[in-house]
Amino acid sequence: AVKRKRLIAESDLATIWVTNPERRLFGKTGPTKLDIAVYYALVGDFMLPHIIGRPVSLVRCPTGKPQDCFFQRHAFTGMPPSVAVFESTNSEGETKTYLSVEDAKGYLALAQFGVVEFHTWGTHRTKLDKPDQIVFDLDPGEGISWREVVEAAVHIKGGLERLGLVPFAKTSGGKGIHITVPVTRKQNWKKLHQASSAISTLLAASAPDTFTTTMGKENRKKRIFIDFHRNARGHTSAAPYSLRARTNLPASTPVSWTDLETIDAPEDLNYASLPGLLETSGDPWAEIDEMARDLPAMEKER
Ligand code: ATP
Ligand code: MN
Ligand code: MN
Repeated sequence: AVKRKRLIAESDLATIWVTNPERRLFGKTGPTKLDIAVYYALVGDFMLPHIIGRPVSLVRCPTGKPQDCFFQRHAFTGMPPSVAVFESTNSEGETKTYLSVEDAKGYLALAQFGVVEFHTWGTHRTKLDKPDQIVFDLDPGEGISWREVVEAAVHIKGGLERLGLVPFAKTSGGKGIHITVPVTRKQNWKKLHQASSAISTLLAASAPDTFTTTMGKENRKKRIFIDFHRNARGHTSAAPYSLRARTNLPASTPVSWTDLETIDAPEDLNYASLPGLLETSGDPWAEIDEMARDLPAMEKER
């Protein structure tokens, strides 16, 4: 049986209540608002450990039309009271009110409120300036197949392991793969971002025909962009198990490195299929916090 700590009770599932439950998102055959709330309740035991205590941003889609979805990082009117708030300064030095989920109640409230995507910072609100995760967002350019993205991710995994790190993989929910690396909280965001840049440069140099670390569409043609800019303070990545606001609501799905190679189409991991799959697989990222390692000392980038 799957190791599973109950965070969402059966009684929580029985009380799911949403306004306009039958309103469909993303077209006539898309999932309903209720389907989304039920999805989050079903995966909550696996998802919650990855988001509790982390600053969270949300994608809301009040009309169900993709063009009306918006990204929300700050407190808002009508927000469920069980969602936690805290103040911090942004990159412009302005004080802003940020959000976090501190318990199952806050999480379920957001799911019932109609939140479609959850995004998190690579840190916790109580240790805001001591990040504990690095994300390498692999963004395939035009002409790169899913199979090639998987191979590239496995290549990056090898490089990270040689640096003494323990990488974890998840689908982005789109065409990409996110590699998340838990690290000890020994550096601030600036040092973390610099290290992620240096590591990306090093890894890209080991397979220059496959990777680029330069933004811009032209550079990315037939290449995979290693986007390390998720590692700047205030930046976010889609949370493990978050749905993505597109057709069929694919999930950003944590997968073991062995299972990654068996995925033919990442969009098959979605709001409808994932709860059932998780019942047998459990959370492949369950040990992520225990796998934190010191960042290697990298040569300063030129
Ligand atoms: P893909 O496979 O399509 O690249 P992704 O999650 O890697 O999926 P995006 O959906 O393009 O990439 O999001 C990039 C990052 O920017 C995400 O990690 C997200 O947290 C953040 N983000 C997304 N939308 C916004 C927004 N409107 N404003 C600020 N940040 C955003
Ligand atoms: Mn991406
Ligand atoms: Mn990106």
